[in-house]
Amino acid sequence: MEAAALRNSVPPDRTGPFFGFVWAVVALAAGVSAGSLLALPGDLTRLPLAFWLMAALAISFDARPFSPHAERRSMSVFPSICFTFAIALEWGPGPAIVVQAAAVLVSGWRMRYAPWRTVFNIAQYACALVAADAVVRLAPGGGFGAGGRLRPLDVVVAVGAAGAWLTVNHGLVATAVRLRFGGRWWSRIRQGLGFELLATGSLLLLGPVLVAAARTSPALVPMMVLPLYAVSRMARLSAEREQLARRDPLTGLANREALRVEVTEQLAMHAEPAGREGPAGREGRAGREGPGGHLALLLLDLDRFKHVNDALGHAVGDRLLVEVAARLTAAVRPPHVIARLGGDEFAILATRLDGVAGARQVADRVVAELTDPVPLDGLPLDVGGSIGIALYPEHGDDFATLMRHADVAMYDAKHRGDPVAVYAAESDHNSAERLSLLADLRRVLEGGADDAGEITLYYQPQVAIATGEVVGVEALLRWRHPRRGMVDPEELIRVAEQSAVMRLLTRRVVDDVVEQLAKWSAAGLELRASVNVSVRDLHTGEIVDQIAERLPEYGVPPSRIQLELTEGALMADPRRVLATISRLDRLGVAISLDDFGTGYSSMQHLRRLPLAEVKVDRSFVLGMVADADDAAIVRSMIELAGALGLRVVAEGVEDERTWRLLHAAGCEAAQGWFFARPMPAEDLVTWLARYRPVSPTTRLGTGADAPGSPPEAAGRPRPAPDAAGRLHPSVE
Ligand code: C2E
Ligand code: CA
Ligand code: CA
Repeated sequence: MEAAALRNSVPPDRTGPFFGFVWAVVALAAGVSAGSLLALPGDLTRLPLAFWLMAALAISFDARPFSPHAERRSMSVFPSICFTFAIALEWGPGPAIVVQAAAVLVSGWRMRYAPWRTVFNIAQYACALVAADAVVRLAPGGGFGAGGRLRPLDVVVAVGAAGAWLTVNHGLVATAVRLRFGGRWWSRIRQGLGFELLATGSLLLLGPVLVAAARTSPALVPMMVLPLYAVSRMARLSAEREQLARRDPLTGLANREALRVEVTEQLAMHAEPAGREGPAGREGRAGREGPGGHLALLLLDLDRFKHVNDALGHAVGDRLLVEVAARLTAAVRPPHVIARLGGDEFAILATRLDGVAGARQVADRVVAELTDPVPLDGLPLDVGGSIGIALYPEHGDDFATLMRHADVAMYDAKHRGDPVAVYAAESDHNSAERLSLLADLRRVLEGGADDAGEITLYYQPQVAIATGEVVGVEALLRWRHPRRGMVDPEELIRVAEQSAVMRLLTRRVVDDVVEQLAKWSAAGLELRASVNVSVRDLHTGEIVDQIAERLPEYGVPPSRIQLELTEGALMADPRRVLATISRLDRLGVAISLDDFGTGYSSMQHLRRLPLAEVKVDRSFVLGMVADADDAAIVRSMIELAGALGLRVVAEGVEDERTWRLLHAAGCEAAQGWFFARPMPAEDLVTWLARYRPVSPTTRLGTGADAPGSPPEAAGRPRPAPDAAGRLHPSVE
């Protein structure tokens, strides 16, 4: 453990018990070593060459600095100990303390230790050396190797002295660490004891060998250099290897394993037995959970990182991660620990917090640090993220539980669109809830459930803006669960997408839509239907095979069906997705890029992919009237798509003004509540029969003249005032 155990970049509280202890040790050291130090000036001139050699070697060995940025509590080996212990055995504690102090001063300076720490280290060694000397003096036969020759008894004396040295040194450091970082006494004492016994113990036991060598000839002393160098080098290498194994190579942050070790260690320290530090009962608990007693695990997941990575390349993605790591480091100071868990997931272990508020403060600092876009290749990238917080002891008392709960909280945050969420047991219910939803969904799809309702499809018309004609419909999933009521399709897709159930679901949707198209066709309605697919559906060619099989089976031409995939899905795995959509293209099935504007698709992608259509995301369309920026964005998206020869559909058109703005911007088609809400297939037939196409060049009166129909919630389209209006159901 050694002096390194106290290495930490945060200055401790100068008035607390820790410093009280430090100064007490310094005073003790001064007291116990005063006698031998005062006698020193006279002795110094009588010391032989062997002493000076040992002193020089002690100082030069410790002068080789260890990296000051090394792991906080890594073990170090200080070979000076071997020489100063030999000096103490042979010439008494006075000279040994002086040499040790010089070695500590040099190494403290090279390692940029705070002055208080160097002083403490000197005092700690002085006490250890005085204790070793006391054992030597107490030994029968008048000290170590008295009479010029080393006897078998001297080995026992040396071992006893080394034991005293180790006990005092380790005890003092363990106490200091305990006072500074808290934790259980026993775990503090045990911490690093094995290493200490092996490394420091073997250095100390070299001491008597060194004495024997020096007595034979001073020329033998320098022969210690190589073995000591080998030992310290090996210790250093193994420490470095251990450190590397705990670093994330890209960002230099701790990795998952390092975080696990750190959390486990901190948990042991925070787990002071209740009642120790205060009266029993409530206050006893406060002793453990009171100010500074909390520990929080924060999980950060970046938004849209995958898209950045895929659209701009891994090199840019890596630079973004490095930048995020730098910002986290700026926002979160030690003793909090930052780790990268892999991908775009980061974690922060925040210690000694005052409960939830403290954890939130840390999270807020991170959020603030991430608000400014990151400029990469001259392109400002927004890197928001969601943070989930789990606290010890409230939300778990081991690493795995805290991680799981922080993860639940993080998804909660994402789900709610909040930057930060603290773990709540209800959310866990939510995740259990989601699992059971998924199970129900699977049962419905496999046809084995009478108690889980039925999956149906609603259809929402798409209208050519210039003429008002219906050019197609989009199929949208609806599931009325007998217990849960209407399940939010977005939520449903989010849940299903993470499992193989998604493919079952899409299979069902495609089957239903093709069958429906055939029915409409038989009734004289030649409609084109758009089907939403998720990225999972495009990973294999299964969907292509299915469509290639179903269309001829129902006699539906490929031009009647179109697939909508989101920009995000496209960018998530462009290579595999490209293979699938190229096959669809060859089949004659058109692809529409959904939610356009919400991802990071590059122009290059748009140009390279066999796309027929882009759907401007409704978030922009909804804001067009109120927000000039949104309107400008929509206009430029329309222009861009037009330049690439793509049809543009605006979704989320809720009112007349938006409709007119879109018309002015040259948008081809629109979809939204202004025209019609999604409705069941049979209602669509009625709706179409009553629909009266209107072009934006006609002036509309009040709402009664609008082409739209009432809310889908009402279940039925409102009978249009002019049911005799002309019908334009077909496009092609
Ligand atoms: P989406 O593909 O962007 O679908 C359009 C959504 O906008 C639909 O929500 C629709 O009801 C809604 N919408 C239509 N007009 C308006 C309007 O004027 N104003 C507003 N505010 N909203 C309008 P819905 O039906 O809740 O579906 C949500 C999402 O769920 C869809 O977004 C789509 O991503 C997904 N989804 C729905 N059905 C399926 C499906 O069968 N398969 C897959 N993979 N995803 C589906
Ligand atoms: Ca869609
Ligand atoms: Ca959309």
